[in-house]
Amino acid sequence: MKYILALDQGTTSSRAILFDCNGRVAGKAYQEFRQIYPRAGWVEHDPKDILGSQVGVIAEALVRAGASLSDVEGVGVSNQRETTLVWNAQTGEPIYNAIVWQCRRTADMCDKLKEEGLDKLIYQKTGLVADAYFSATKIKWILNNVAGARDLARAGRLRFGTVDTYLLYALSGGRIYATDYTNAARTMLFNIHTLKWDDDLLSLFDIPRSMLPEVYPSGYDYGRTDGTFLGRELNICAVAGDQQAALFGHLCTNKGDIKNTYGTGCFLLMNTGKSPVDSRNGLITSLAAGIEPAPDYILEGSVFVGGAAVQWLRDELRVISTAAESEELALKVPSSDGVYVVPAFTGLGAPYWDARARGAIVGITRGTSREHIVRATLEGIAYQVADIVRAMELDAGVKIAELRVDGGASANNFLMAFQSDILNCSVLRPAVVETTALGAAYLAGITSGIWSGVEELKNNERTERVFTPSMGDEERSRLLSGWHTAIAAARLRQG
Ligand code: ADP
Repeated sequence: MKYILALDQGTTSSRAILFDCNGRVAGKAYQEFRQIYPRAGWVEHDPKDILGSQVGVIAEALVRAGASLSDVEGVGVSNQRETTLVWNAQTGEPIYNAIVWQCRRTADMCDKLKEEGLDKLIYQKTGLVADAYFSATKIKWILNNVAGARDLARAGRLRFGTVDTYLLYALSGGRIYATDYTNAARTMLFNIHTLKWDDDLLSLFDIPRSMLPEVYPSGYDYGRTDGTFLGRELNICAVAGDQQAALFGHLCTNKGDIKNTYGTGCFLLMNTGKSPVDSRNGLITSLAAGIEPAPDYILEGSVFVGGAAVQWLRDELRVISTAAESEELALKVPSSDGVYVVPAFTGLGAPYWDARARGAIVGITRGTSREHIVRATLEGIAYQVADIVRAMELDAGVKIAELRVDGGASANNFLMAFQSDILNCSVLRPAVVETTALGAAYLAGITSGIWSGVEELKNNERTERVFTPSMGDEERSRLLSGWHTAIAAARLRQG
């Protein structure tokens, strides 16, 4: 039996999943690793923890599958995006911890870019909003703050990489220095139109070209790992940022195909085909993972508080004891009875972009029960997703036919049914919920020749459940109008 090994290097854990040639999970293992918070708002990872945990889980996944390294046809890597590492080219040693995408230490730098009006140039070239999430200001911070870094950089002796690049470099003993389009597109240094590192942006951030890896399609023959590292050389056949890997895992390879991941936050990605779509609604324009030389474009939007709203019900309001109980309670009442919960705990993202908005519960009466609040909270997640889907439809000029879903909260049947009703389209939940790893495996499997292409995979695709809308147009309009009144309440300036 031949297998594809997917390495899914995430923000809080590293996973290894072995897929067989039918795309089924044969064995998996995962390990959490340390989060480092040096100051309020700062987040780092120790590169040794990233590498150690990722290598550590490979053997365990193989054992669980009863397989050995010689059965592995190819490796696909998916990774937390934007997280930034800089290392010495001679020694391979990082000169600072990995600065994690969530880290806000460069927020002031980004405010300054906006004050100077440079955010427009950045958007034109990269499709991104000028934000501290993306790698460019993090690299600049390292060069400005680590003793001697600037001199080493000028002398061409430093290398920058997102997590994928660092893993490839380490696993190949420095032979592979590369990334893929989806990861490059999150650095704020990559021009998504020319598909090249952008000289204007490199000089804006004062980053030498010698610090940047080569960029290839996600499905590509990246080279082989060093035999001394894992005990055997393995072919790296794919690299993709986690959300784009998930989009490919859902086989959303046609224009208008869209997926949402319901995790702590929600990540919506829509394939917009061969040409980039400018957003008038504050969405990000970026690149999709694929096997062709020129990537498709995507629109991306995120909901800051998704499944985290359910954690809030459990840990702060304490009206449920497990996340799954939210479904049971929501179904005990026929409706939320005019109650809306807007979980804008940290402000509102697309399409509102209001950092000062705060959460709101509106429409409560003497008869409002915890069941209503729980139900309205789940509905609040679905409404936020619907707002982004509508923004995408407007920007891209397409009407979506179905939404593909994954992530922890997609297990909630009430939430999925309500999502389908409020979007008035089908919601498809796949049988393999490890969609990120599956996407990396699909890309690697096509590249290594295990699968002939997307069509073959589509024929084998298994959907666990399809939710179809049953709500009337009038009710949908009434509910959406109530939601938008609640959004207005969440945006009222307090004090
Ligand atoms: P992440 O990758 O962001 O850590 P996961 O995909 O593991 O997230 O999903 C975890 C989130 O899903 C949590 O916020 C949790 O509250 C939510 N969640 C898990 N199960 C359910 C459920 N049955 N109903 C609603 N929310 C759920």
